[in-house]
Amino acid sequence: MTARAASIRLLCLDVDGVLTDGTVQLDDLGHETKRFNVRDGLGISAVRHRLEELGVRHLYSGSKNKFDDIRDAANACGVPLSAVAFVGDDLPDLPAMRACGYPVAVHDAAAEVRAVAAFVTTAAGGHGAVREVVEHLLRSQNRWNEALSMFDSPSAPDIRAGSGGVQHEQHEQPQST
Ligand SMILES: [Mg+2]
Repeated sequence: MTARAASIRLLCLDVDGVLTDGTVQLDDLGHETKRFNVRDGLGISAVRHRLEELGVRHLYSGSKNKFDDIRDAANACGVPLSAVAFVGDDLPDLPAMRACGYPVAVHDAAAEVRAVAAFVTTAAGGHGAVREVVEHLLRSQNRWNEALSMFDSPSAPDIRAGSGGVQHEQHEQPQST
């Protein structure tokens, strides 16, 4: 598995149930709130920092076909599907997981999703699972120490989630991912 992880050049993430614990809170006015774990954002930023030369990031909001979307993202990045890792948690993620080179399931993913995964996290979705994937991929590529070195300086870059140049590609009719 480590050899496959070492060849990954693009990380694609489901959001609900992966970057969040799948919980959606509604307030009295019907406004939707999702919970993210800050450690996941830190992990993603580490990848962004180290793979800046890739230069392309996409957000597919309200994806109706995750396979099509990871194929589009891979094409946009000039990366073959065999070099794509995709992290999922539920049944709509299965086509994308089967198509990519390194399918990953969060610990509390559906049994069918775990069954096709090359790597299953010990953390549950929304509780540091993405951070775990990032560390796993970087360690497989012998780049973990390189990523850690960004924290050596007291004037380390601001790597909070969302502080970088993410290119947002909004699809119409957003819905639960
Ligand atoms: Mg999901």
